[in-house]
Amino acid sequence: MRYIEPHAHMVSRVTDDYLAMVMAGCVAVCEPAFWAGFDRSSARGFYDYFCQLTDYEPRRAARYQLPHFCWLCINPKEAEDIALAREVLAMIPEFLTRENVLGIGEIGLNKNTRNEMQILEEHVRLAAGHDQLILVHTPHLEDKLKGTRLILDVLRSDKRIRPDRVIIDHVEEHTVRMVLDAGFWAGITLYPESKCTPARAVDIFETAGPDRLWLNCACDWGQSDPLAVPKAALEMRRRGFSEAVIDKLLFENPLSFLSQSTKFKVR
Ligand SMILES: [Zn+2]
Repeated sequence: MRYIEPHAHMVSRVTDDYLAMVMAGCVAVCEPAFWAGFDRSSARGFYDYFCQLTDYEPRRAARYQLPHFCWLCINPKEAEDIALAREVLAMIPEFLTRENVLGIGEIGLNKNTRNEMQILEEHVRLAAGHDQLILVHTPHLEDKLKGTRLILDVLRSDKRIRPDRVIIDHVEEHTVRMVLDAGFWAGITLYPESKCTPARAVDIFETAGPDRLWLNCACDWGQSDPLAVPKAALEMRRRGFSEAVIDKLLFENPLSFLSQSTKFKVR
């Protein structure tokens, strides 16, 4: 099988994970900018992180013939510090021309605060001004429904934003419909611990699919699984889905969305 991993925080993973992903059929990996597990002490920390995402990490992946792409932003958690967030935002344009940068992400909300909303709007303006794709993180648990509504309102209020150029990630049963009905793409994230298992993800796909939907593992420094997507393919096979349907969800769909950036190429 072949698949695209559209959301993985590879800077937090060991090199063996790249090998395992390639052996499982991964043909491209995309890495949104994210919280590092701790707050950076200054904007320079983000500068170094953006260099890592655009220089070191693609070279590490290339050792396994795996194309690596990234998205840039300040994550909503650290965006609570507005002054820091604006310094980071000002730095992003110089990185947008780098050859593996697909757009602005993962922006969004964490605790749905006023400051997070402010910086979300500024990220959306930045993306619109530079004609960039957008990848959105939605909050977890009890904040998800309200947060998703707020995010959709922000995106819809900027008339330059085309919904088919935005992916709203970490959707669940109660948010997937509103995302798709508004014309956006939706990402289902497979978490091994408490959240969306492969079985639950395939349940969501059965009711919401097959269009404008993708699966991702969002593996990071926490307990997570870089092979969650191929494991979901196993679950789909067990339920009797054809290889063509699996290929659409795990390869063709992310390919369609990501190819809106001319930089995106698979192995
Ligand atoms: Zn993420």
